Amino acid sequence: MRLVNVFFIVLLLLVLMVLGNLYLTNHDLLMREVVVFGESIKLQSVILITFLLGFLLNVLYTGIMEVVRLVRGLNDSADTRLVKRISERAQDARDLVAHGLPKEAREILEGILEQRKDYIPARLLLGEILLKSGGPEEAVKVFESICRDDHDQVEARYQLAEALMAVRNPEASAAVLKKLAADHPKKALRAWRRLRAIHMEGRRWEEANEAHKKLLSHFAAELTQGERAQGSALAYQVGITKVEADQFKDAAQIFQQVIKDEPDFVPAYLSLGRCMILQDQEAQGLEIWLEGFRKTGEGTFLQEAEDYFIQLGRPEDGLALLRRVAATSKHATTAKFFLGKMLYRLEILDEALDLFQEVRSQVVYSPILFFFMAKIHSRRGRIDAALNEYRQLLRNLGILKLRFECAVCGHRVQDFADRCDSCGSWNSHHFMFKESDLPEGPIRAESGNWMAML
Ligand SMILES: [Zn+2]
Repeated sequence: MRLVNVFFIVLLLLVLMVLGNLYLTNHDLLMREVVVFGESIKLQSVILITFLLGFLLNVLYTGIMEVVRLVRGLNDSADTRLVKRISERAQDARDLVAHGLPKEAREILEGILEQRKDYIPARLLLGEILLKSGGPEEAVKVFESICRDDHDQVEARYQLAEALMAVRNPEASAAVLKKLAADHPKKALRAWRRLRAIHMEGRRWEEANEAHKKLLSHFAAELTQGERAQGSALAYQVGITKVEADQFKDAAQIFQQVIKDEPDFVPAYLSLGRCMILQDQEAQGLEIWLEGFRKTGEGTFLQEAEDYFIQLGRPEDGLALLRRVAATSKHATTAKFFLGKMLYRLEILDEALDLFQEVRSQVVYSPILFFFMAKIHSRRGRIDAALNEYRQLLRNLGILKLRFECAVCGHRVQDFADRCDSCGSWNSHHFMFKESDLPEGPIRAESGNWMAML
């Protein structure tokens, strides 16, 4: 027998003893009668009835609670079964979407929503289907209602932003994303990326740049190298908007920063130089172009300088500049070529040819160089020399080797192939040889007349 049971039996005996003692010592008192609602009842009966009543009430209450709990449990399990069935059907709908059957998926989802109007996965999927199958206005409504019902639905807010883009409301879309980024700053990587893309699409460079700065400051580790470099491009575009608004000083500052961040960003040098020249600082502007050329070896700077001086009607200044660069630059070959090209443009042919010949041995690829030389030779009546340069030009272009062209993508190759390497089309290679179309109508109208003469 367990100690606890012994203890309870002892306790029970004790209580009975106390009660027995109380009954015996107060026997006379308990046998006396009291009046309850006009009836006289013995006191001991009153105590007994009260006790029994309390006991009964207790049993009744416990019983009722037990029944309630049972019913609730049954309901719950029915509910769980329903939820399970619904989520299975939602999965079916998802599979149908994946297999390109949005209409069938939509029917299932609408069935689910008839049973449970607030089932968010089904509403989300329905919105996605609407968005993809040409119902962006309805999709906006669906996503808006989800966002209203549940503020923490991040996915629904992203989808809402997409749907708003689809109904050509980029401002509202951007507002949704901005709010999302503010509410969930730790999950905002996607929101800022999307914002940057939306603003870039709308050519709102300042906003795009802001979004990019947010990305840089909060998610630097998650950005790719290329993505980080986008910052310079966006800042550059902001600079261009300043130029368009005639704010050359602000623009110049931005371009300088871009060059500092990315010393080989050619467009920034070009634009900064133009900014300086537009502010009547020609010497500084030209110096920036030359600086860009020093850093990158990119011929476009020399072209820009040449065009600038020719447009101003000061070709001799342009020539002087190019001569100086050709004599001092470490990219002397490129500089000499551009000097030669400018001389050619100004009809100073012999000096141009001298330069081209000097450059020629250093150049691996430049069809235009051979073209200029051929032109000068033929102008001077040296036909053999000219032909020789044209031959070089053809070889340089390599077009004689590429004899087959893909009719689908235009890719040219040396040998015929059954399938295009570039676009993957079959039977698309044609030998590059086209007959001219035959003239329309009877080829020889006079033949009829000749027949009639017989
Ligand atoms: Zn192709």
